[in-house]
Amino acid sequence: MSRPCTMMTMEEIVAPESGLPPAPGAEQYPALALANSAIALPGGHYIDQLGTPAGANEWLTERGLAPVEIGMRDMCATQLRSLREQIRALLASRVDGLPALPTALGAVNDALTRVPTAPLLQWDDKTGPYRAAPHPTTQIVDHALATLASDAADLLTSPDAERLTACGSPPCNRYLLRHGRRHWCSTRCGDRARAARAYARRTTSQ
Ligand SMILES: [Zn+2]
Repeated sequence: MSRPCTMMTMEEIVAPESGLPPAPGAEQYPALALANSAIALPGGHYIDQLGTPAGANEWLTERGLAPVEIGMRDMCATQLRSLREQIRALLASRVDGLPALPTALGAVNDALTRVPTAPLLQWDDKTGPYRAAPHPTTQIVDHALATLASDAADLLTSPDAERLTACGSPPCNRYLLRHGRRHWCSTRCGDRARAARAYARRTTSQ
């Protein structure tokens, strides 16, 4: 079923940071931070903090979800990126008041229930039955996925979900918890949106 997530190649580099502060609510809800971990920036730039196993490991470590350098393999980073897309789909459904995609719901519930509560029973052809826990790294990653999925479920069902919104400053793709009327994830996005509006006014009044 789940394969071990060990070994890391040395040429992997950590994705560069966007320089943006966390979006409002992202420090409270790690699932929101996960949803925002691939950022579209002006000029067609795109930063994926989970783009490499080392980057994904660092991202988990910063949130207390994994020890430093657990030796993640690309498959584990892929699982994390996949959960991110499913959580983003659910956030989009909630923001737009649309039904959830069944695949997104299934993926989050799968992550929630995948963590075994006990070492599983195994059966060796020669030596017979024994119990064994999954590989430690797999265990860590599965636990992190379950924690993030649970946090997404908490966010979507809490009163805070009323304040969930998508940043209103294209091309930004981050989600945030709105405070008052502000619907930008950062000062930088707010400034860009205001500049774009001022420009549109100037060009239409000419
Ligand atoms: Zn933004």
